[in-house]
Amino acid sequence: MSKELEHGSEVLFVRIDKGNKIVESLVNFCQKQNIKGAWISGLGAVSSVNLALYDLENKNYIKKEIVESLEIASLVGNIGTLNGKVVAHIHGVFSNKDMVAYAGHLEEATVSATCEIKIEILDIELTRKHNEEIGLNIIDLR
Ligand code: ZN
Repeated sequence: MSKELEHGSEVLFVRIDKGNKIVESLVNFCQKQNIKGAWISGLGAVSSVNLALYDLENKNYIKKEIVESLEIASLVGNIGTLNGKVVAHIHGVFSNKDMVAYAGHLEEATVSATCEIKIEILDIELTRKHNEEIGLNIIDLR
């Protein structure tokens, strides 16, 4: 994570540089900035990505690692907390040299050229709570 540019008081733009991990960088940044509720969108390029699909029946993630040069066609997600710890939930669409896309739940990705992210800070904390039926930590809206 390199530079941040404040735009108004509710929106931040951040750039994640080559070689850095997207989810790790975002979580570290939000922890430092004390951001506990935010909506994220972004684009850029990566050299590898780990995607997942949640298998509701078996309550686990089916995972896939793709190691190739990919555009981040779209990143969308949010920042919240789980047991007081900052957590990111991000999904992404990544396209290859044939303009064919891989998409899914983003576990992690390594930036190749750059990654440009908009963080819309919410004035509420998005707390997550484990849901037994679903098997995931879902946002707790009371
Ligand atoms: Zn997900």
